[in-house]
Amino acid sequence: MKVRIWGCRGSLPAPGPENYRYGGNTSCIQVTEGDTCIILDAGSGIMRLGRFLGPTVKEVHILLTHLHIDHTMGLGFFQPLYNPNVKVHLWGPSTGQEPLLHRLRRYFSPPLFPVKLSELPMHPEVHELGDEEFSIGGIKILSQFLCHPGPTLGYRLTANQKTLAYIPDHEVMLGSSDFPHDPEWTSGFEIANGADLLFHDGAYSSKEYVGKMGWGHSSIRDALLFANMCKVKKLSIFHHEPTRTDEQIESMYRDAVREGNFGFEIEMCAEGNVYEL
Ligand SMILES: [Zn+2]
Ligand SMILES: [Zn+2]
Repeated sequence: MKVRIWGCRGSLPAPGPENYRYGGNTSCIQVTEGDTCIILDAGSGIMRLGRFLGPTVKEVHILLTHLHIDHTMGLGFFQPLYNPNVKVHLWGPSTGQEPLLHRLRRYFSPPLFPVKLSELPMHPEVHELGDEEFSIGGIKILSQFLCHPGPTLGYRLTANQKTLAYIPDHEVMLGSSDFPHDPEWTSGFEIANGADLLFHDGAYSSKEYVGKMGWGHSSIRDALLFANMCKVKKLSIFHHEPTRTDEQIESMYRDAVREGNFGFEIEMCAEGNVYEL
């Protein structure tokens, strides 16, 4: 799998010279395996990705973790949705009540957006997901609900014996009764267990987290403990706060590394990063 980061900021796009290194676009990751194109979340980063894909792409699968605005705000600006020659599939969490299509229509309607979903030249095909396994092209996928406000999925993608885990919004501390001591009963464990590369929410410092408990995000410290529990090979800290500058992100990285030797690679995710798995 080839993996490329088009946005790793949380909550709100944060462009500006002080965020040059880590980027300002919200969640969007492109995963390519042969002819299969999967996009994880449709944050503001998906706009540039849409231009990059160009006219040759015929089919795209967008897997939404949840419908918070920072993960969907780029959808209306994703050029392939206006191209009748491209088939777009939208996958996202089921609520068991209101269909995903109806929930997506709320964004694609005035006063939020001028174009209605029904007016797009090629109607996207909508698929609802719960805790389940399925495949797209040569990629095996596991989706599972996670601890975050509103129905929210994490995704585990496996191809050629390599695994990528994507958990951008997750309050792992509240997703376990005894964190970090009970792996099987911890939210997200099956998604991340043994992953070669884990993208995980690390929005806050430990000090900030104290005042933000219950908001749905994790401290970097908890992301490290979770990655350690899941025995991942590499942890990429994701969902940087919009107010965080490059300098602050780097200082948080130094603090994280000082936490101790966890036996896996740690990085702060940056827009533009490319990985080969
Ligand atoms: Zn988010
Ligand atoms: Zn969220």
